[in-house]
Amino acid sequence: MAWKIRVTASHAPSRGRGPVPPLIYRAEAYEDSDRFREGRWGCGHEHPTVETALNCGQEWLNAQPGPLTETA
Ligand SMILES: [Zn+2]
Repeated sequence: MAWKIRVTASHAPSRGRGPVPPLIYRAEAYEDSDRFREGRWGCGHEHPTVETALNCGQEWLNAQPGPLTETA
C-alpha cells in the first residue's frame, strides 16, 4: 500500500480574539491508488505551519509498515 501525505489548511475555531482566525494545518494521508484520494488518516493537531504538519505526516508515515513512499 502506497501512502501519500498532504497538508490541509483551515481556519482555527474563532476564540473571540482578533477579526480573523489564524490558519491551522493538518497532515492527511491517502492511498496513492485511490482515485478519489480520500483521506484515510488525519492528524488531530493544529499545526501553525505547513512544514510542521508535513513533518507530522512524515513521522506517521515512518511508523507505518511497508515500503516508504515519497511525500507528495
Ligand atoms: Zn499533526
